[in-house]
Amino acid sequence: MYKHKLLSYIMLFLITFSIIIPVSTTQAAPLDNVLTTLGASTLSDQSTAAKSSGPLEKLFSFVFDKLLGPILNVFNGKSTTNPTTTQPVVTKPSPTPTAPSTTNGTLKGKVIVVDPGHGGSNPGAVANNTRESDNNLAVGLKLRDKLVQAGAKVIMTRETDRTVAAEGSSLGEELAARVNLAENNHADLFISVHTNENPDTSIIGGMTFYPSGKSSDLALAVQNQLINETGAVDKGTSAATFYVLRNAAMPSILVEMGFISNAAEAALLNQDSYRNKIAQGIMNGIVKYFN
Ligand SMILES: [Zn+2]
Repeated sequence: MYKHKLLSYIMLFLITFSIIIPVSTTQAAPLDNVLTTLGASTLSDQSTAAKSSGPLEKLFSFVFDKLLGPILNVFNGKSTTNPTTTQPVVTKPSPTPTAPSTTNGTLKGKVIVVDPGHGGSNPGAVANNTRESDNNLAVGLKLRDKLVQAGAKVIMTRETDRTVAAEGSSLGEELAARVNLAENNHADLFISVHTNENPDTSIIGGMTFYPSGKSSDLALAVQNQLINETGAVDKGTSAATFYVLRNAAMPSILVEMGFISNAAEAALLNQDSYRNKIAQGIMNGIVKYFN
């Protein structure tokens, strides 16, 4: 008789426990949900949002709450004591983690060669304590990262301060080595990044060259976006017979980002933030060209 009474007390306790506790957690869930959604959308780093709930944790909380919970009320009290394990089930359908990957996949499947001009024993233009090869590389690396984020496969002709062909090769061999990288990898685009100079130190602005007879639409798209992002003087697009443009089979352009012969523009080209704007402009132009 006592045994029965004790059992029924336990059952009653468990039933009330399973009714009260879930109510309190479902009330707490929307607030947590809002906070994590806000966190996920404001932080570009998705890993912080993902860290809060492992897939195993999610599976366990799902099994306990949705399947075992209603059948065996015993587990309900156990799982609800830790509100963090129940919360991920609510936030699971949140579209925020998948949203960036779909918008970033605009260049998926494209093979793009980024060619930072000069390097190693050939610094290119040198003025105002600035070496062209350094500017070209810095912007080229930023462009690489942006293109990769957009889903493209990027091949760099160089990622350090070096020549592409063996040191001591002729200029022809050096330029051929760059174009060969694009040809051998069946690239969709060849993007060469350079910095300009002029004896007239008042000349400033960005311009984009294309091989005569083709790639003028790519050049125009990139030039427009470059000016849009940087606010630099628009020196337009122009056909040219540079080796890398002449010999690349795929659409190719050569971007002259600005003039290091002008002290003010040289200073801008040395800034990390300005380099980032240039890379973003070229990137936007490429996306516009493909879409
Ligand atoms: Zn150059």
